[in-house]
Amino acid sequence: DRIISAGANREDEAIEASIRPKRLDEYLGQKPVREQLDIYIQAAKQRGEALDHVLIFGPPGLGKTTLSHVIANELGVNMRVTSGPVIEKAGDLAALLTNLQPHDVLFVDEIHRLSPVVEEVLYPAMEDFQIDIMIGEGPAARSIKLDLPPFTLIGATTRAGLLTAPLRDRFGITQRLEFYTSEELTSIVRRSARILGIDCEPQGAAEIARRSRGTPRIANRLLRRVRDYAQVKADGHINSDVANAAMQMLKVDPEGFDDLDRRMLRTIVDSFDGGPVGVESLAAALSEERGTLEDVIEPYLIQQGFLIRTARGRMATSKAYRHLGLKPRRELEL
Ligand code: ADP
Repeated sequence: DRIISAGANREDEAIEASIRPKRLDEYLGQKPVREQLDIYIQAAKQRGEALDHVLIFGPPGLGKTTLSHVIANELGVNMRVTSGPVIEKAGDLAALLTNLQPHDVLFVDEIHRLSPVVEEVLYPAMEDFQIDIMIGEGPAARSIKLDLPPFTLIGATTRAGLLTAPLRDRFGITQRLEFYTSEELTSIVRRSARILGIDCEPQGAAEIARRSRGTPRIANRLLRRVRDYAQVKADGHINSDVANAAMQMLKVDPEGFDDLDRRMLRTIVDSFDGGPVGVESLAAALSEERGTLEDVIEPYLIQQGFLIRTARGRMATSKAYRHLGLKPRRELEL
């Protein structure tokens, strides 16, 4: 597993529960999202209604699950947690829905992975707080309507484009999470350090934040590894030198790139003269799966302007050349 991967590993899952913000004012960054939700939540509470259904989208590790917990807490209701691939049958969803209390939140992670049959059950549930379920089989089978308590569905997905249009249309509130700035991540690292009892100077936190690829989950994970380093090498105290030294050991460079990122840029520059190079050729040269390249390695490199995707293939930008300590090719100066 890469230290800078945005997906959660076991250790993340175990620790995240304890450092997850619980209230809106502890949820750092994402100001427009917070401001809007604050109003919607207050309005729903004043009217004594369930909050409209909420769709949250954004890359892994940016705080979709956390935000859902925060919304439920602010509403003062319980939240049931499930995910698209876990709900296999229509009956699984029916069981979840009929067990909700009025105004509760049902959180469905990876909602784009719901099966079409389950999605069909969800439509009337979201729209009219009703479900149709089939009783029995064969000629004796009949469908009955069940009333549900008014509830709020919160769906999370990494890409809104993966949702079917009818499902997307049934969310009254859609929020998109953005990558966090270094300053926001510094605040997140300092908050986590405080909760976990880690002795971390602001400059040390800033050093960790800068390399966290805009992602709180990565920031929190790097903090834990730097803590280990500091404990053994520096009496547990994290300042910018200690954070820097730990990052060198972890081979995470100042851009938050690891060996795999650098190897990809190097290969384009060294073996393909900076590109353009087709994704298949590149995958072969790196001995990686094409999917790994497209889903895991290149999005951040592209987002940061180190790589561009053209019709003829991937190209390294002048920023990439400079990062590798090379002189940029003039025609690639962007
Ligand atoms: P996602 O569901 O988008 O993959 P999570 O909600 O699980 O991401 O967030 C990962 C971790 O990052 C959480 O455990 C939480 O501690 C931290 N985190 C996420 N967003 C924030 C935030 N806005 N403020 C503080 N910490 C956050």
